[in-house]
Amino acid sequence: MLGSRARLPNAGVSAESGSGVGFVTGAQMASFTALVVARDTLLERHGWDVEAKGLQGAPLVHVVCGACCHGTIESAVRLMGLGRENVRTVPADQAGRIESGALREVLDACSGPVIVCAQAGNVNTGAFDPFGDIVTLARERGAWVHVDGAFGLWAGASDRFEHLVAGVDGADSWATDAHKWLNVPYDSGIVVVRDAEAHRRLKSNRCAYAGLADLEHRDGSTWAPENSRRARGFVLYAALRSLGRAGVRQMVESCCHMARLFAAELSKRPDVQVLNDVVLNQVLFRLQPSSSTDADAFNAAVALEVQKAGECWLGTTRWQGQTVLRVSVSGWSTTKDDVLRSVASLDTISRR
Ligand SMILES: *Cc1c(COP(=O)(O)O)cnc(C)c1O
Repeated sequence: MLGSRARLPNAGVSAESGSGVGFVTGAQMASFTALVVARDTLLERHGWDVEAKGLQGAPLVHVVCGACCHGTIESAVRLMGLGRENVRTVPADQAGRIESGALREVLDACSGPVIVCAQAGNVNTGAFDPFGDIVTLARERGAWVHVDGAFGLWAGASDRFEHLVAGVDGADSWATDAHKWLNVPYDSGIVVVRDAEAHRRLKSNRCAYAGLADLEHRDGSTWAPENSRRARGFVLYAALRSLGRAGVRQMVESCCHMARLFAAELSKRPDVQVLNDVVLNQVLFRLQPSSSTDADAFNAAVALEVQKAGECWLGTTRWQGQTVLRVSVSGWSTTKDDVLRSVASLDTISRR
């Protein structure tokens, strides 16, 4: 999707795809923006004009998402006035993926406007939701499909990893970050909406319909919540121009390769359990303390000491009721030596 048809970031609309593209501060705002467009478009189809009437008295909108979706989805739902209680959660499998059968049941229990939020790249396991199934089930019910692909959507840049995003192009909107995998400074997120006209109505008055010709003269503030801002998109533009398609692909493949190496090195230790199938750049693992120390506290303490030692940065997360360690390889310059030094540092600290 990105890079192939949508031209970033100097064109609001790609002639081939017809999608709208907005430059925002991060995936949180990208999802927020896309979900606002989804809400307004679906309510319009149900005979309700949000722009004029607001949400008071509007038909109930349900947001369906996986049990392991990112917290920014619920934040967006709350910020846009749809209410946390109107989120319907679909059970996820061991890797954190939406279960298609369960999604069918949840959708059957919803009536009225429905927005389904899928995920490309679970923040813990790196897993991808089954987009093909999700899009098919959502289409049958007239639901909108939004994809949070903060880092995972970039898998599509590599033919080795693009199978992970199969079917993602059937969605209605996508959110991604450039400040994660693309290695540009913070404040760099992208929202893409398939229907450019629906996207354009985010802020512009419906009556002031300009026609597609005017879409060629891009005004960045049309496609994002922000109005005035610096030309922050420049670094993203520069990164894409200098890397090119091959450079982005190489960066993705190299990080994934280093993540697998990290997992392989960790697996050599009997007291380490790698908890995920390393499909992308995320490695989830847990250390078993030798004494009767509380394992959660032990893992948290090791993470803190590794951070202090400064050889690498890794954090903790909660996964299936336990405190575990998470490695996310996303630096373009990460080498095999960096991985080995990081594992050695972890080794020294955890034995201490
Ligand atoms: C990081 C992340 C987000 C939030 O991105 P921001 O750039 O911090 O707004 C959302 N979803 C996923 C899957 C993420 O990894």
